[in-house]
Amino acid sequence: MTVLNSKIPDGPLSEKWTNHKNSLKLVSPANKKKLDIIMIGTGVAGAAAAASLGEMGYNVKVFCYQDSPRRAHSVAAQGGINAAKNYRNDNDSVYRLFYDMIKGGDFRAREANVYRDAEVSNAVIDQLVAQGVPFAREYGGDLTTRSFGGVQVSRTFYAQGQTGQQVLLGSYNALKRQEAKGTVKMYPRRQMLEIVKIDGKARGIVCRNLINGEIERYSAHAVVLASGGYGTIYFLSTLAVNSSGAAAYAAYKKGAFFANPSFIQIHPSCIPQLNDYQSKLTLMSESLRNDGRVWVPKGKGDKRHPNEISAEERDYYLERRYPAFGNLVPRDIASRAAKERCDAGFGVGETGYAVYLDFSDAIKAQGKKTIKNKYGNLFDLYNKITGEDPYTQPMKIYPAGHYTMGGLWVDYNLMTTVPGLYAIGEANFSDHGANRLGASSLMQGSCDGYFILPYTIGDYLADEINTGKISTDTTEFDLAEKEVKNKIDNLMSIKGNTSAHTFHKKLGKIMWDYCGMARNENGLLKGLEEVTKLEEEFYKDLKITGDTKTINQSLERALRLAASFEISRLLIRDALNRKESCGAHFREEYQTPEGEALRNDEDYSYVAVWEYTGDGKEPKLHKEQLVYENVKVTQRSYK
Ligand SMILES: Cc1cc2nc3c(=O)[nH]c(=O)nc-3n(C[C@H](O)[C@H](O)[C@H](O)COP(=O)(O)OP(=O)(O)OC[C@H]3O[C@@H](n4cnc5c(N)ncnc54)[C@H](O)[C@@H]3O)c2cc1C
Repeated sequence: MTVLNSKIPDGPLSEKWTNHKNSLKLVSPANKKKLDIIMIGTGVAGAAAAASLGEMGYNVKVFCYQDSPRRAHSVAAQGGINAAKNYRNDNDSVYRLFYDMIKGGDFRAREANVYRDAEVSNAVIDQLVAQGVPFAREYGGDLTTRSFGGVQVSRTFYAQGQTGQQVLLGSYNALKRQEAKGTVKMYPRRQMLEIVKIDGKARGIVCRNLINGEIERYSAHAVVLASGGYGTIYFLSTLAVNSSGAAAYAAYKKGAFFANPSFIQIHPSCIPQLNDYQSKLTLMSESLRNDGRVWVPKGKGDKRHPNEISAEERDYYLERRYPAFGNLVPRDIASRAAKERCDAGFGVGETGYAVYLDFSDAIKAQGKKTIKNKYGNLFDLYNKITGEDPYTQPMKIYPAGHYTMGGLWVDYNLMTTVPGLYAIGEANFSDHGANRLGASSLMQGSCDGYFILPYTIGDYLADEINTGKISTDTTEFDLAEKEVKNKIDNLMSIKGNTSAHTFHKKLGKIMWDYCGMARNENGLLKGLEEVTKLEEEFYKDLKITGDTKTINQSLERALRLAASFEISRLLIRDALNRKESCGAHFREEYQTPEGEALRNDEDYSYVAVWEYTGDGKEPKLHKEQLVYENVKVTQRSYK
């Protein structure tokens, strides 16, 4: 018997959300004051949700490990945020945004959730504009847009190459307003380590105060995880170094099922690794491919300066292979195409693992000033990191780990399989299938945070109005705190010789080599074995400097890494189970003669949902069958 109930409303796709909203229970203003909500995370999703819930009158306790909520990883988002406004009059619509996402996700996402995102996206732009987010505008004052991968319209709103920062500042201001009103209380510099369940419901958390090392308890009537993704399992990724899936994994161990963990996006355009001392990679936004052309030399091993290679000697391989979408094919396709060229010996740069992203034609046609206006900060970033001037020579780029489509399984109300525990933003799995289209994460996080969770959570909380304050002085909190203390003592007592940083680097290499852009059964089995061996070594030879009573980043990292080993194994298991290629999950055994992903809809048209069954035990697989009633499931083509 399946335990999954996705709660997708009946009725026509375009009416599901409206009808559902109308049927959700409400909580009166007087009762909202009696209810506490814990929010883990202050990125676009968490900050938007906390501000909205605060404005509605709930008491919201907001946690993040940064010193300020506005430093959440979302600040890094560059290129833009999608909405189906059709301001360009290019025949865009809610349906087209929905369809692009379903197709972009290689027909592995839920129709109802994706449609809702597309529908709500327009309200998000209005909300952000009202908050003062400085989106780029036309001369006459209208908001302007640009294109992103996998679409043939122009629906991406942007603030130069720093859209995430501006969107986050909008929600941060809203959050600060609620803080001043007293509905939101901020708890920065906290690392959430345990979810506390009482009578099967999420009732609180245990976290470590990162400044003084105190272990603290907090209770609430509902807990929301907006804790972001786990792309840092590759060590080198575009994510902030301290991003991790540890919070989501703690929830998984407490009964929240984990969906599609192997669906990880590798972004095609990042500055290639420059040396062995790097601990992260830098993204060069997909928006650059609006004007930048991707190419490699036609001749193998051609080491000439790119400016000496004539147009006839260049292989604009994306334009050649995918004429309909050209340089703006989706990320999974662009990444694999770059890998294919480099593996075949046509790559550029010292290592041969890079391709060119060239703006010379765009600069000739539009002028340097226009290009600078669109992408100035990204060009400066590139110049500072590489010492090369992208206005006068092409950028060098290569794919890197970027985003996790997989995450905590949630139903249509964004609730996990633990009653009262919700997951929003990148932390959940729900909207991107096997591949996310660019500029749709800020959209999803903002939709979840501003306009979906604030309504759906009321449906649950309406039954909690008589619960009263929840005490933290209970056996459940005692046990959770004990578990946290044991975990910390255990790591501190190892006193080995190898830092968590070094272990992380080794884990990243294993994951990249065996469960990265291309996967196969033997490699995955080998990867599983290697991760387990490395984890054993970690528990024998980990070295943590400092103590537990002060700021200790080496302890923080070790705690995150302990979860990363387990997430990595779950990810590999999921990749082994899915004997097909779809989106970013490319199993080499399953490909078309042209090297494209070959899906197996008959056997794998489902969300793979994993249940934790105990330490050292195999997780249990549940399947949420995907039903497509509004799109024709086809072989994805961008030709
Ligand atoms: C370089 C880069 C550029 C991008 N550009 C775009 C773009 O242009 N458009 C787009 O749509 N998407 C973009 N993305 C993706 C997008 O930025 C992210 O998916 C999105 O911002 C995630 O938001 P979030 O709110 O879910 O989580 P995050 O912003 O990752 O926030 C996570 C929050 O959870 C908190 N947290 C996590 N674990 C714990 C814990 N254990 N205890 C306490 N707090 C915890 C953190 O402190 C943080 O506040 C980009 C991503 C990168 C890396």
